[in-house]
Amino acid sequence: MLLDDEIIGLANLSDRAHAILKNPDRQIKFQLRKHTPKGKIVDCYLVYHSTARGPPCKGGIRMSEGVSLEETTRLAEIMTYKNSLMGLPFGGGKGGIQTSSSLLPELKETVISGYAHEIREELYSGAYVPAPDLGTGPRQMADIFDVTHIRSTVTGKPVGIGGIPGRKEATGFGIKEATGIATRNILNTEVSDLTVAVQGFGNVGAWTSKFLEEEGAKIVSISTAEGAIYDEDGIDISKCFESRKHLGDKCTLECENAEKIELGSELLLDVDILIPAATGGVITKEVAEDLQAGLVVEGANAPTTNQGDRVLRERDIPVVPDILANAGGVVASYAEWRGAKSGSKTKKRETYQVIRENIHEAFDEVLDISTNIEIPLRKAAMVASARRLRETMKGRGWI
Ligand code: NAD
Repeated sequence: MLLDDEIIGLANLSDRAHAILKNPDRQIKFQLRKHTPKGKIVDCYLVYHSTARGPPCKGGIRMSEGVSLEETTRLAEIMTYKNSLMGLPFGGGKGGIQTSSSLLPELKETVISGYAHEIREELYSGAYVPAPDLGTGPRQMADIFDVTHIRSTVTGKPVGIGGIPGRKEATGFGIKEATGIATRNILNTEVSDLTVAVQGFGNVGAWTSKFLEEEGAKIVSISTAEGAIYDEDGIDISKCFESRKHLGDKCTLECENAEKIELGSELLLDVDILIPAATGGVITKEVAEDLQAGLVVEGANAPTTNQGDRVLRERDIPVVPDILANAGGVVASYAEWRGAKSGSKTKKRETYQVIRENIHEAFDEVLDISTNIEIPLRKAAMVASARRLRETMKGRGWI
């Protein structure tokens, strides 16, 4: 539950509005039994947290061993507030497939096609529009398109079938923008003066690292599930991109000059900015107590536990929350979905522009609330988002 009493009060949510947002609208649970890895039964989920600003409900499909109904529900809830903060006409949804993300491509295709087949009514009706998340990418979105043959049913597709240029790097681009705003407004400096550690070198972490490196930041540490590396002179991100093409997650084991460090210790490095961009719940109370970064920018969804967040607040370490920092992906998905509906074509610079505008507008609003009421950025982002949800529900006659 992302709402607390303070946010409910500041967003002026009535008991009825709170009751509507408290529980998920709909949870769908099913199993895949055919053509699954080693004949296993694969548990699958689709959750709509809130349809106040939808349908469609928007949020990615996660494919990972750690997927559960609880996690999918929590991630759908995050999408409700992210979509609302960005002012998008989307409810919050999430898909989950509980299986390893490192399956052979053919097996991954069978699993994702089976998933899409099972939720076909949700896709055809436009109730749920999926996108990539942990363990899925453009190839899997293409597999979904192969089931529906309707461009607006899925975003994050390859460009040739209606994807838009700039979508695959959109989340990283947005994180770079958010990091720049936070750096100027909170640290009173420029990104080019700073050192950064990034956890996760998948879609989000790799593009975030690349964009920040281009801005002149020194990326001193990156990691994947296979290992973490450190180079005080800065890691050559372009080279890591290249080696990732052949080695996947093992790219962090092959990087020249960089020193191998214990996985997880990248979170505790003495850097200016820490960007967790892998999985959830990694900044625990213990990690938060030992964390040395001056600013945390949440690239992943829910990387900080509630207890970890409390410690960071007590230690005055500012956190740019996930619903603001990593919203570039869903903003670009909105542009793709809108283009699919209207038949218009989007250029890469337009994708970047729409992300930049949305992140800046939302961040300005969040900074205003945070400064005026003297609350941390996470609470301020939730207040802005919940206020917009309240107005939407009022407009629909729900409250
Ligand atoms: P991905 O599957 O492309 O990459 C995940 C990366 O994290 C891989 O490099 C993997 O090896 C690494 N990783 C996993 N566990 C790790 C660990 N314990 N330590 C270090 N590295 C680890 O996933 P992604 O799309 O980059 O998503 C990453 C996070 O960003 C997720 O929390 C996701 O929900 C969030 N997110 C993704 C998008 C998007 O557009 N893809 C948008 C918003 C938020």
